[in-house]
Amino acid sequence: MSQYWSPVVAGLSPYVPGEQPKLQNLIKLNTNENPYPPSPRALQAIREAADEALKRYPDPASDALRQAVAATHGVSVGEVFVGNGSDEVLAHAFQAFFKHDGRPLLFPDISYSFYPVYCGLYQIEFHRVALQDDFSLRVDDYLPQAQRTAGGIILPNPNAPTGRALPLGEIERLVAGNPQCVVLIDEAYVDFGAQSAASLVSRYPNLLVVQTLSKSRSLAGLRVGFAIGHPALIEGLNRVKDSFNSYPIDRLAQAGAIAALQDSAYFEQTCRAVIATRERMTASLVELGFEVLPSAANFVFARHPGHDAATLAAQLRERSIIVRHFRQPRIDQFLRISIGTDDESQALIAALNTILGA
Ligand SMILES: *Cc1c(COP(=O)(O)O)cnc(C)c1O
Repeated sequence: MSQYWSPVVAGLSPYVPGEQPKLQNLIKLNTNENPYPPSPRALQAIREAADEALKRYPDPASDALRQAVAATHGVSVGEVFVGNGSDEVLAHAFQAFFKHDGRPLLFPDISYSFYPVYCGLYQIEFHRVALQDDFSLRVDDYLPQAQRTAGGIILPNPNAPTGRALPLGEIERLVAGNPQCVVLIDEAYVDFGAQSAASLVSRYPNLLVVQTLSKSRSLAGLRVGFAIGHPALIEGLNRVKDSFNSYPIDRLAQAGAIAALQDSAYFEQTCRAVIATRERMTASLVELGFEVLPSAANFVFARHPGHDAATLAAQLRERSIIVRHFRQPRIDQFLRISIGTDDESQALIAALNTILGA
């Protein structure tokens, strides 16, 4: 607390990211990073971009990068916005689209915990809509007849931290049923087994799809995310961006992100590897007595009926394995375990075997 703070700062409850430990030799399964390195072509492009041109500002509109996103998703450049990580894209979208007096933003009660944080920052009214007991999402709960008319809707697909995905038909029903507001689908994990809604953008001017290079492209350290939507929505985002920071994507990030997007063979290979490990790890966890929610993401959400989740997380930590535990109603008996390499996942299963056997 300080007398120098603007009043709004005292009232914020900032997001707490998963731990990034300084220790080496930990098996880090707590922040859903990709266990595989970035595309070698992306690393090469970053090295090549590290030259004298760095004395100049980067392209403020990131045209070449937006072109690469557009080509990857079969949309036009005017339908693409890029930001410094998808968290920044999300923040701009909250400010641009979700603040409407008397009409709250809707999102699931169990969801990405950054959403209420942005609401606090931008003073946006919100309402949490409860997921079903099995953590599935019912689109009917978001239609105007079920709710106060929404001023915006946001949800991750697949959802975080549950991993459950909605089929594209259900996303379309949600978007078509709420023409009065922007529906933002946060597709941070979509490449690990769900269907992207980017194909719907040309038909729905109220749909914004947000993705990131942090997870499926192994570039969490580069900070690049993007949105795909109707040109009028992109213009709204640009108005916010150009009132905040004209150069959010530096030269190295633009070069690396373009090369990563263009290396589709490497991308598909690493996604397949993560999915295969997820399926094997899920089977092993079930064998150990865990209930595991069906996951279309690069993590699983699991609970053991006979063991307290916080205790299990602490016991794993003693064995140098870190997973994520949320002290939050409804999910405080679950662990969110990121998918590592096969070796990392086998080490996790071996450690759990010892802990549960003891
Ligand atoms: C990881 C994540 C993001 C943010 O990713 P960036 O690294 O900021 O691009 C956004 N939404 C969800 C649901 C995430 O899990």
